[in-house]
Amino acid sequence: MYKSILLPIDLSAPASWSQSLPAARHMMGEGGTLHVLTVVPDFGMSVVGSFFEKGFEKKALRQVGEKLAAWVGSNVEEGIDVHPHVTHGRVYEQIINAADKLNVDAIVIAAHTPELADYLLGPNAARVVRHAKQSVFVVRGS
Ligand code: ADP
Repeated sequence: MYKSILLPIDLSAPASWSQSLPAARHMMGEGGTLHVLTVVPDFGMSVVGSFFEKGFEKKALRQVGEKLAAWVGSNVEEGIDVHPHVTHGRVYEQIINAADKLNVDAIVIAAHTPELADYLLGPNAARVVRHAKQSVFVVRGS
């Protein structure tokens, strides 16, 4: 059993939780804590920032926070100790930082979206496996 698990999800891709959420729930057993993280991606190009109006980032984080709260409400059973988190930045870096900061025991991550079926691991999942200090459980879709 793992006492606390980080489940990173892409809210626009149901494949990022359809099988990893049940896996995480199973690994937590009854008394654990589930941290769900969604990252508003920053593509690492400062030029992109200049296209957006000031305050865009705050607004985006707030809107995504509302979506994530709704996701928790409809996907996680009542009574589970679940904590939603929204951050902004490079996806894999944010996942790794959150795992350290939240001091989780394990990260449960889906391997990739179905569109990338030729790859066994998507770019973010691969980097998390390579760089995270915690155990990483990669859930492969069918
Ligand atoms: P793909 O490019 O096929 O989506 P990724 O490696 O980006 O492959 O995605 C694998 C997993 O990484 C997702 O299932 C999810 O767990 C995590 N992930 C991807 N994007 C995000 C995001 N924006 N926020 C949080 N987690 C994410």
